[in-house]
Amino acid sequence: MLANKDFLNSTNKLFDKAIQYTDISPGLAKRIKVCNSTYTINFGVKLKDGIHTFTGWRSVHSEHFEPAKGGIRYDIASSQKEVEALAALMTYKCAIIEVPFGGSKGALKINPKNWTEAEIEKITRRFAQELIKRDLINPAQNVPAPDVGTGAKEMSWIADEYRRIFPTDINALACVTGKPPQKGGLVGRSEATGRGVQYIIREFFRHKDDYQPVGLKDGLAGKNIAIQGFGNVGFHAAKFLQEEDDCKIICIMEHNGALLNPKGINVQAAKNFYMQKGTFDGCSEGVFKEDSASFLCMKCDILIPAALENVIDMSNAPDIQAKLIVEAANGPISFEADEILLKKNIAIIPDIMANAGGVAVSYFEWVRNLRHIRFGRLEKRRNAYQFETLIAAIETMTGKQMPEKFKDQLIEGSSEIDLVRSGLDDMIREAYQKVRLAKIENSIPDLRTAAYKIAIDRIAISYDSIGL
Ligand code: GLU
Repeated sequence: MLANKDFLNSTNKLFDKAIQYTDISPGLAKRIKVCNSTYTINFGVKLKDGIHTFTGWRSVHSEHFEPAKGGIRYDIASSQKEVEALAALMTYKCAIIEVPFGGSKGALKINPKNWTEAEIEKITRRFAQELIKRDLINPAQNVPAPDVGTGAKEMSWIADEYRRIFPTDINALACVTGKPPQKGGLVGRSEATGRGVQYIIREFFRHKDDYQPVGLKDGLAGKNIAIQGFGNVGFHAAKFLQEEDDCKIICIMEHNGALLNPKGINVQAAKNFYMQKGTFDGCSEGVFKEDSASFLCMKCDILIPAALENVIDMSNAPDIQAKLIVEAANGPISFEADEILLKKNIAIIPDIMANAGGVAVSYFEWVRNLRHIRFGRLEKRRNAYQFETLIAAIETMTGKQMPEKFKDQLIEGSSEIDLVRSGLDDMIREAYQKVRLAKIENSIPDLRTAAYKIAIDRIAISYDSIGL
């Protein structure tokens, strides 16, 4: 696996590759590419066995829109360069799905498994205080979210810390997204990145010209999928693709072993087992294999890397057999590996589109926190009344009764989760359609370069409008 420094190099090389398809001046291109600022924080926390010093970062890659947006990860392997690469990806991701955010990212160099929940809470609150003090957590300037090693709990502690420091800020809840629904979060946020992966794969399979050239046949049903990483994103993507699209999940890779079953794994059962035992060893859903990394190269229709960066590099790219790779993780393919895979005629849906579902629903959560009212509150009853009137009119005109099932569906209307999924689906579909069109119209060989081109062009327009 490549060092974090190479992740940033990879991201920059992808940017440089896309620049040739734009009319942007070298000066402006550099302005867009470089990270605006990175704050490094060393802070002490008094825990039961003494004072511990932790190191964290918050990078702001772009501020052409504010707030800047992006998750905070807890990972012992994190570094400044990694955070800067991830912040850059946030900038491009937000531009592609057209959410009005700049790009940011944070990390804390810690292995969360080495600490109790009470200790993690204390550390998170101290980290949050340091970031809040510098407006690196702020509803108008910088809004974190969950990432690798963090979740709804950490976000609710951050929100609580912000509210304590600014008790009169009426928009305090919008200082962070990915909170639990009962603490100002939004239903559907925790499944959102996995949902986005499902929606973008569905959209890919709506375009014959995209799936036929790589040897894939019509329809998602029965497609063989291998997933690497079974955290929040990998689990939800696998679960939805299996339960709603009839895909066969033939392999799930985790850091401590893989589960294989050519007939398809029951994803929920595998998750329950893994949650309980911390391993797939002994799981009756499939065969356990210790050497999980080698299964990235197994024969399958779709490979979904959903863990960390640079898992596909020069060493294994030549052996990859999947026909389509969907980057649920950020940066799972190195620049050089990307070139090899494209030469092998493998389709790749890049991270900055494939995993944008998380920040899309974060955007809805942020808006909802600022509106102080749930989605659908005002129109639900009005819509029900209109449908009742319409049904009555149809029944009077035709002299026939509408079947109860249809009546109920029409009158019941949309719940908040329906609206969230609908908004997400629309954003992901539109992003995919625009990127594939840019690819065709500009004779760009791959989706990733086309996605970067769209992002760069949009950011350039935004800088241009402020006279830069
Ligand atoms: N950490 C997620 C990502 O990498 C979500 C970011 C957000 O919601 O702001 O896209």
